[in-house]
Amino acid sequence: MSAAAQFLDQAKALSCVHCGLCLSYCPTYLETGNENDSPRGRIYLMRAIQSGQLGAEAAPVRHVDLCLGCRACETACPSGVPYGTLLEQTRDYIEKNHRRGLFQRLLRWIVIEQVFPFPWRLRLALLPVRVIRLLRLGFLMPRFAREMMELLPQRLAGGKLPAERLAKRPAKGQVGFVEGCVMPVLFGNTNESSAELLQRQGWDVITPRGQGCCGALYAHSGQLAKARECARRNIAAFEGQALDAIIINAAGCGSTLVEYGELLKDDPAWSERAEAFSAKVEDLVTWLDESRFAVSGSDEKVTYHDACHLCHAQGISAKPRALVKAKSSDRFVELAESDLCCGSAGSYNLTEPEMASRLQQRKVQHIIDSGAEVVVTTNPGCLLQIQSGLHKAGAHHVRAVHIADYLLEGESDDD
Ligand code: SF4
Ligand code: SF4
Repeated sequence: MSAAAQFLDQAKALSCVHCGLCLSYCPTYLETGNENDSPRGRIYLMRAIQSGQLGAEAAPVRHVDLCLGCRACETACPSGVPYGTLLEQTRDYIEKNHRRGLFQRLLRWIVIEQVFPFPWRLRLALLPVRVIRLLRLGFLMPRFAREMMELLPQRLAGGKLPAERLAKRPAKGQVGFVEGCVMPVLFGNTNESSAELLQRQGWDVITPRGQGCCGALYAHSGQLAKARECARRNIAAFEGQALDAIIINAAGCGSTLVEYGELLKDDPAWSERAEAFSAKVEDLVTWLDESRFAVSGSDEKVTYHDACHLCHAQGISAKPRALVKAKSSDRFVELAESDLCCGSAGSYNLTEPEMASRLQQRKVQHIIDSGAEVVVTTNPGCLLQIQSGLHKAGAHHVRAVHIADYLLEGESDDD
């Protein structure tokens, strides 16, 4: 037996009453049928590590690693167990006390810690990808590199927003915009669409220059100290501006931004500032007015995939549907298991490619079965995962689109 450690909030860990109602909502449990890959099983393992019954050794760590952090278990749990917080605390402990194999250490350090959170490094890292694609040399790459490349969109659309864009209608006020670190490199056009929608609905859009990575990738991979550094930087960047809201169009980032208060609650110099920041954060979908969109002339069938960090972590599922339905009307079709994780889960599809691929296939099959030609979602990770899954399945007639881009399709400046 190892020495007891104190990394979990004990009251939160004990709030699980083992009822098992969450099990059938957990994607990894649905795939493996193993109780250790369920929320209840993982909470047992976390508590056992905390009490010293288990060490941070390979077997329990494997089950914690396999967790997507999708938080579907939180939506299902009648006892309100804050599973996401328990997972972040456990992963932080594991990263300090467990030594992984060389490949995983390099992958986590180089790609997740040193490249993704820094847009200029990501741009640099993508240069060889452009060359390899241009010269069709993908077949020379090792398998893991090919799989990583397959996740990237065919068209890499970078672009930064200006510091200020003025409302195109009589101004209602001004909002801050969180650009993100992956979005300006891979989905600059989506940031552009988001700002355009806000301007058309009467908002000045301020994109402060001092902002950086939201910290989600760090928080989800057990690097809480680094996530806190990101939070402090962003709070300082947005403070001092008269903002009605702070808008984010990436659900994975939004779920971390709304939890800055929790992340910095033990830091007396920042806890109040973090609470004030989080109170202003709004996902783009909650800030847009659906009555401003008319049914489009397109005859494409449209469906909607719930990004886990919007529907489970933030409890937002009706509003994005209302926006999509405003444009698609009776061409909207519901997706089976729409709120089941697609396997993207931040950097999960890089660290756990096998389970990510199983969930990707499950999601893509549901999309194909729905008959939709457009699948709309609200998170860049989901878009990459679904786009690549559709491509692999040969479903070239279906396009995956961010909701901001979908809402802007066919709209004129006068609408
Ligand atoms: S976060 Fe998702 S994968 Fe992890 S235990 Fe909860 S439902 Fe299962
Ligand atoms: S996490 Fe919630 S739903 Fe799952 S076993 Fe514990 S109390 Fe029940």
